[in-house]
Amino acid sequence: MANILNGIELSRQMRNMVADMCRAFEEKYHHTVGLAIIQVGDNPASTSYVKNNLRLCKEVGISAYHHKLSAKTSEADIIALIDRLNADENVSGILLQLPLPEGISLQNVAGRISPTKDVDGLNPLSAGNLYMGYPAFAPCTPSGVLELLKSTKTELPGKHAVIVGASNIVGKPLAMLLMREMATVTVCNIYTKNLAELCRQGDIVISAAGKADLITKEHVKPGAIVIDVGINFKDKKLVGDVSYDEVAEVAGWITPVPGGVGPMTVTMLMFNTYAAAIEGKEINK
Ligand code: NAD
Repeated sequence: MANILNGIELSRQMRNMVADMCRAFEEKYHHTVGLAIIQVGDNPASTSYVKNNLRLCKEVGISAYHHKLSAKTSEADIIALIDRLNADENVSGILLQLPLPEGISLQNVAGRISPTKDVDGLNPLSAGNLYMGYPAFAPCTPSGVLELLKSTKTELPGKHAVIVGASNIVGKPLAMLLMREMATVTVCNIYTKNLAELCRQGDIVISAAGKADLITKEHVKPGAIVIDVGINFKDKKLVGDVSYDEVAEVAGWITPVPGGVGPMTVTMLMFNTYAAAIEGKEINK
C-alpha cells in the first residue's frame, strides 16, 4: 500500500513556520505582513475560498484586506485599485480571486499586479520570469505540489514527471517548476493519445484535469508518486481525478482528496505573502 502524502500535516508545519517568521517580521519592522484579496462578483466557490484565506491569514498573523467589488465593476476601476495596492506599503502581496466576471480581461488586470506583489503568479511577467528561471512567484497550487514532492525526499533530477493537464494556473507552471528541478517532464492534455501508457512511464504522475476516475491503476507504475490536484464531485462527495483505492495499491506515495494538495495551496499563499514582504524590505533597504 502507498504511503499517504498528508497535505494537512505538511501545511500545519509550514504555517507554524510562516507564523514564526511573520512575528519576527513585525518585531523588526513594526508593522504586519499584509495581503490584499480582490474579489469581483459573488461566485460562491470564490466566497468560500476567500473566507478560508481570511481565516488562515489571521492564524499566521498576516493582515488581510478584502476588497469585494460588485460584478459590475469596470476593468478600469479594478486596475485603479491594483495601482493603489501596488503603491500601498502595508500591502505585501495581492491575490486576484478568479474567475473574473465576463468582459474583464485577465491579461489586462493581472498584468497590472506588480510582480513583486504577485503572490499567486498571475501576471504574465511572473510566468515569463518563471519560464526563464529568473526569480518569480509561481502560482500557489503548483508550488504546493512541489513542496509535497520534496517532502517525500525523492531526488527530482532525472525523474520522469507526467503532468495530466496543461492550464496556465496548474499544469504549465508546474512543468516549469519541475524542469527547474531537472526532472524530465511530459505534459498531457485532453487530446493526448495513450494517456495510460504515458503515465505508466512516470516516476511521478500529477493529475490536474478535473475528471473523476481519470487515473486508474493502469496509469501508474508500481512505486510511483501520485499527486491528485483535481477537485470533482461524485455522488455529492468531493473526489480528485485519481481512483484512490485501486491506485493506492500500486503507488509508492499518494495524496488523498481532500487533505492533499488543497491545504497546500492556501499555505503557499501565506508563504509567498511573507516572502513578498521580506523581499520588499530587502529591495527598499
Ligand atoms: P482547466 O480546466 O483550466 O485545465 C484542465 C486541463 O486538463 C486542460 O489542459 C485539459 O486539456 C486537461 N484535460 C482535461 N481532461 C483531460 C483528459 N481526459 N485527459 C488529459 N487531459 C485532460 O483546469 P485547472 O484550473 O487547471 O484545474 C484542474 C483541476 O484542478 C480542477 O479539478 C480544479 O478544480 C483543480 N484545482 C485544484 C486546486 C487545489 O488547490 N487543489 C487548485 C486549482 C485547481
